Formats: sequence, C-alpha cells, structure tokens
Amino acid sequence: MSVLVVGSTALDSIKTPKAENPRLLGGSASHAAIAASFFSPVKMIGIVGQDFPKRYLALYRKHNIDLTGLQIAEGKTFHWSGEYEVNMNNRRTLSTELGVFETFTPHLPESHKNSRFILLANIAPSLQLHVLDQIKKPKFVIADTMDLWLNIALPDLLTVIQRVDAFVLNDSEAKQLTDEDNVLKALKKIHRLGPAYVIIKRGEHGSILSGPSGLFVAPAFPLERVVDPTGAGDSFVGGLLGYLASTKGSIEKNLRRAIIHGSATASFCCEDFGLTRTTKITAADINNRVAQLEKMVRF
Ligand code: AMP
Repeated sequence: MSVLVVGSTALDSIKTPKAENPRLLGGSASHAAIAASFFSPVKMIGIVGQDFPKRYLALYRKHNIDLTGLQIAEGKTFHWSGEYEVNMNNRRTLSTELGVFETFTPHLPESHKNSRFILLANIAPSLQLHVLDQIKKPKFVIADTMDLWLNIALPDLLTVIQRVDAFVLNDSEAKQLTDEDNVLKALKKIHRLGPAYVIIKRGEHGSILSGPSGLFVAPAFPLERVVDPTGAGDSFVGGLLGYLASTKGSIEKNLRRAIIHGSATASFCCEDFGLTRTTKITAADINNRVAQLEKMVRF
C-alpha cells in the first residue's frame, strides 16, 4: 500500500568539523519519502521554490515518488543550515529561512485523500493537522516533531499527539514534553496524551517502542564512521512506515520488524552528507543490514 508523507522539502547547508556542504537536498519529507520508497510507493506533500534544482526533482522521481502534491511556488525554497560539533550528537541550527513555507497551505489532490498510511514528518503541527483533516479513512498515522514546536506550538502539537496512532520523538524532546528523566515514566505520560504507540529515538543507541504488547528495545545499526547524521530520524520513521505499509497482517505483529527496517535505513543516511548515500542504495542493501542486526541481538 502507498504511504503519504508530509513534511519539509528543503535545501540544507551542513557544516561538520571535517567538511561543509551547501544547498543539499534535505527536509524531513525528502528524507522520509526516499527512505519509505524502498518498500512502498510514496506520495509526497510539500512545497519548493523556483530555485529548487531540477536534479533534486529527478532524484525524487528516480525513487518513484508521486509529486502531484508537491507545489512549485514563486519564491525561495525552505533553507536550513546547521553545524555539528566533533561529537556529532551535538548540533546547532545556524539559520532557518522559511521561504515558500511561510504561506504554505497543503491541498491534497483527490487521489491522496484515500491514503491509509500517513507520515506526518517534522513540520509545523498546524500543517500536520491540516493534512490529517483531509484524509478520509487512515489506517495508521505516525507523527514526528522537533524541539522548536514544543517551544512555540505546543497546543497544536498536543492535538497532533492526541490524533495519531504513533508518536515519535527523541529522548531530549520526551524529557521536555513530560518533565521526566526516566524513560518509562516519560512513555507512560505520552501514552496518556493519546497515542497507542510511542517511539523514543536515542540516536546511535537505537530506539524504544512502547505499545499494547509492551516494550521493544531496538538497536541502531553500529557504524564506524558517521559523516552527517542530518535526516537520520526522518529516514528512520520513513523506512519504518514504508516497510509497515508493505506488510500483511496486523500493525501489532509487524511494527517491531518495521522499526528494525527503519534503523537499518537510517544508518545509510549517516554515512554521507544529506541524501548522497541513501540515494545510491537498494532495498537489498537495507535487508542485508536488517539481517546483520538480527544476528547482533539474538541470544
Ligand atoms: P533530523 O536530522 O532528523 O532532525 O532532520 C533534519 C532535517 O530537518 C533537515 O533536512 C532540515 O531541512 C529539517 N528541518 C530543520 N528545521 C526544520 C523546521 N523548523 N521545520 C521543518 N523541517 C526542519
């Protein structure tokens, strides 16, 4: 089944201690959509400006991403720039220029309104809600976010959390949202806000899922060299939902395997700048890492 992805479609300028790369293809929707495309057909909702390079549109198309819902508007593409410290877990946003996102109202093409698997990737929660309102009968809705929205759009974000099946956030966001250091207590509090499934991302240490059948502690794929982790969280959730949409049977039965597919997909994202590595792999490469992860956790 196909996956509908809404989120940011961006140009990213990324600085690490070793290199600097301007105006790469980025944005939460780009990372998530390309990750999901290895497993299921993807429809992407977003907006770019007329400065958006044609070769990036070609990259989406190479991954068979349906661009009917991508607006190309007058103005500049959303531009984000960030800088990593030597410890790549620490990142600083240098600038965020909203450009065409400033006036973006996503109108879903009729063909998109029947989508069953919905990924609300990181973007203003009001936009996530605007998309969700247009979906007729979703089967599984998963949302991601970032600290910015906890700081400036908490009421809207709480509405998103209440309406989704699964909510994904990282450990520092979970702490900020719940005021709890302890992950189990934080998970309990987030469940009380609505979602049946909560997934807390812990970067290179993997993730933890809490759902109706208890906890699942998932590893990240161990990497010797991380070049640029930008978009790893988006790739994780994209790979996860893309895989889930490709499976038969209940969500409950397939979600753990889906998380491992998300972990494996995200590992490739970290191995080069932006989407450089991810756009060179195949589903077989991801499946190979899934098999390696399976061996690493069996006991
Ligand atoms: P991650 O590394 O998973 O946190 O995601 C990084 C991606 O988030 C980059 O590709 C950015 O373009 C995108 N991003 C950064 N700030 C924002 C924002 N305020 N809204 C939406 N997307 C953003």
